[in-house]
Amino acid sequence: NIQSTTTLHNGVKMPWLGLGVFKVEDGQQVVDSIKAALETGYRSIDTAAIYGNEEGVGKAIGETSVPREEIFITTKVWNANHGYEAALAAFDESMEKLGLDYLDLYLIHWPLPSKGKFVETWKALEKLYKDGRVRAIGVSNFKAHHLEEIISHCEIVPMVNQVEYHPRFNQREVHDFCKKHSIQLEAWSPLMQGGLFEDPTLKEIAEKYNKSIAQIIIRWDIQTGVVTIPKSVKSHRIAENADVFDFEIAQEDMEKINALNTDERMFADPDEFD
Ligand code: NAD
Repeated sequence: NIQSTTTLHNGVKMPWLGLGVFKVEDGQQVVDSIKAALETGYRSIDTAAIYGNEEGVGKAIGETSVPREEIFITTKVWNANHGYEAALAAFDESMEKLGLDYLDLYLIHWPLPSKGKFVETWKALEKLYKDGRVRAIGVSNFKAHHLEEIISHCEIVPMVNQVEYHPRFNQREVHDFCKKHSIQLEAWSPLMQGGLFEDPTLKEIAEKYNKSIAQIIIRWDIQTGVVTIPKSVKSHRIAENADVFDFEIAQEDMEKINALNTDERMFADPDEFD
């Protein structure tokens, strides 16, 4: 069902489906989107310091009747705050805005290899984890070689890696690496920000299952073992995107979707992005 979870390697349960709030305005828009999601049954919200809406996320969580411990909240340390002390301070600032006394998942937003500070930043996340301020820690936009570096220098293997993941870019190498190390892969821009809705293969499969293309993609994420966080601010789409737990895509159709991969990113290569 909509609240079904995957178990991270430290035993913490994370919902397979969450609401992404990138580009959602702070204030009423983010509050309304999150309330619509919680009412539909979502229990996971993905924000980031750079999204500028942590206050609104906190407001929605403060106002809902859903108990705090039932909601899984993710935020991320932004690029300007790499480094041990800077990351600790950034965490405090996010928690202040969110108005929370603990977080569920804290991620390093980008590896920024040119700055050479992600290992140091990771040590700050390990400290926050050991101090009980966050239930799980992870990374975002990390390639296998960045993860190798973390794993060889650190005590705690990341529990999650959140990356660009959709039928055109299925991250085979990173996914295999993550499976090998029990790191849960999570999809950002699972719907390719709307870029897949005219795809003929997806159209055909959607018709076969009497589902929308968005629902087919979200279901494909979950069936490939990837946590997914589609974004919408419209309550009917928020509900539509969660209505994916009453059917299963057959193997032959999964393979047709896998075959859409072109290894082309929509966004920057993490080795080049800073
Ligand atoms: P997405 O792929 O989720 O696409 C969202 C867009 O698709 C919406 O704005 C809407 O226009 C459309 N849409 C959504 N549901 C639809 C439906 N049922 N029917 C028709 N259209 C629909 O894009 P995203 O917001 O970039 O990614 C999702 C989340 O991933 C973000 O909100 C954010 O939380 C996260 N993210 C993280 C990173 C990172 O670097 N870690 C980068 C980008 C996004």
